[in-house]
Amino acid sequence: MATLFVSDLHLDATRPEITAHFLRFLATEARTADALYILGDLFEAWVGDDDPSDAGRAVAEALHGVADAGAPVYFQRGNRDFLVGAAYAARAGFAILPDPAVIVLGGAPVLVSHGDLLCTDDHAYQAFRAQTRDPAWQAQFLAQPLQARLAFAAQARAASQARQGQLQQAGTMETITDVAAAAVDEVFARYGVDTMIHGHTHRPAIHRLTAGGRQCRRIVLGDWYTQGSVLRVADGHYDLQTLPLAL
Ligand code: MN
Repeated sequence: MATLFVSDLHLDATRPEITAHFLRFLATEARTADALYILGDLFEAWVGDDDPSDAGRAVAEALHGVADAGAPVYFQRGNRDFLVGAAYAARAGFAILPDPAVIVLGGAPVLVSHGDLLCTDDHAYQAFRAQTRDPAWQAQFLAQPLQARLAFAAQARAASQARQGQLQQAGTMETITDVAAAAVDEVFARYGVDTMIHGHTHRPAIHRLTAGGRQCRRIVLGDWYTQGSVLRVADGHYDLQTLPLAL
């Protein structure tokens, strides 16, 4: 049996085939796993646990099925679905982990994170992150009517797309939106782990590096835009694979 890691599914109504793909994964492989970790950006947007999306409802039911089958499910909030709360966690049968979190995998400590905290060169994003993680900001936001929150999410998404276009034109997209090497080194040093798993950058890879004089590895999960992506960990072996749509 394996422990499974996914992130960056960005589920929404515009890509129903990806939601269906994930539901198949949850109905099959995930049920027999040792555990399933979802490291953020499960949803493209989440405006509160009263979010009316069909994907939210179907995924909650399927995730609860995984937990009921005996595979515990853990979730970290991403930069898109940072408003997933205790009510949705209860509906979906998962536990919400802090970001970052250190878990024990095959007897060794492993750090898991969505990954946006590592993108410290993106000052504009880090400012937005600090604002939207503020409990007072969240309470004020969640107190607004559903329609107002949905409108804000649509606006934030358009602004994010416009900014990505600007970065692309300026030729800084690749560097600014990737992790900062200094931030990665700092996390390895502070937590004393030699393995880190994260998503967010949509650049799936297993990087080997030296941090603090230790051999470390940083595993980046892939997104679920045109296919699935899963990291399977069993017996100390890390296997990062794509899940093609046509199975
Ligand atoms: Mn992300």
